[in-house]
Amino acid sequence: APPDAWLALPGGWPHAARQRADHASHKGRRGDVLVLGGVPPAAHEGVGMTGAALLAGRAALRAGAGRVWVGLPAPAHAIPAVDAVQPALMLRTAAAALDGDLPQRAAVVAGCGGGKALAPLLPALLARAPRLVLDADALGALGAVAAADDGTDWRARLHARAARGWTTVLTPHPLEAARLLGGDVAAVQRRRLEAAQALAEATRAIVVLKGSGTVVAAPDATPRIVASGSGWLATAGSGDVLAGLLGARLATLPADAGTEATVTAVTEAVAAHGALPAAWPHGALPAAWPHGWLPTASDLLP
Ligand code: AMP
Ligand code: MG
Repeated sequence: APPDAWLALPGGWPHAARQRADHASHKGRRGDVLVLGGVPPAAHEGVGMTGAALLAGRAALRAGAGRVWVGLPAPAHAIPAVDAVQPALMLRTAAAALDGDLPQRAAVVAGCGGGKALAPLLPALLARAPRLVLDADALGALGAVAAADDGTDWRARLHARAARGWTTVLTPHPLEAARLLGGDVAAVQRRRLEAAQALAEATRAIVVLKGSGTVVAAPDATPRIVASGSGWLATAGSGDVLAGLLGARLATLPADAGTEATVTAVTEAVAAHGALPAAWPHGALPAAWPHGWLPTASDLLP
């Protein structure tokens, strides 16, 4: 469906709605998503980022994914028993989540508050997950991938994925993009289209350069600017919500979807994310909100 049709339904969650309308649907056909991230404080010097992975997982469910696992890079005793807000999420250790064939059949979203613990998991992910979204700490860990394994440069690994027809989506904000490109933020921001395109060419990945006017770029293609979105998204966790949305969208793409269909799906997900503030319960912003009472990333999830 065209992006505007996708956005037309309440809250911008049409593919979920469309599939709900299919009488014969079942959860196995809605797409599986695995989120890797959310290091608990007990596993990381008292500094936890569990909420980031939970937001991504909740967003993936809200976007219509049939089943969502959240793998936290921590020992079993540090894993929360349940997400009380969204108990349908299946929480486990990252090690358990990576065991078996889950990375092959699910769309995998890595980053989302995974901290340094993600770095050692990345080589296996890059080699095993055909549909992969790398955000935040997973982008930061890319440079360490060669050191963590057999010395193969991370760009070469991304090229190998592209050569197999596998999907990799990188979702840097401007600082993360600057680090990956080896430049500074101001340079990225002055030339956002060029920066996104350069990163896409260098990695053969689909690049979502976030911020005001998010750019979606792919190798050998014309970059697109997504017009939805606003400063209301500039709040902690909204990038994690986008990552979950992207995972859900990739999870429903047919295995033989080409690059163009995949880039379109990514663009649709970014557009839907940008439209979410319009679906906030209090209606028009900011006037309808009590003074000083502003929405957070949780409010992005209807
Ligand atoms: P992150 O920086 O990873 O938390 O991601 C923030 C998310 O909010 C991205 O999807 C950005 O594109 C979006 N966002 C942040 N600030 C703005 C803005 N001023 N205009 C439009 N989108 C924004
Ligand atoms: Mg982020």
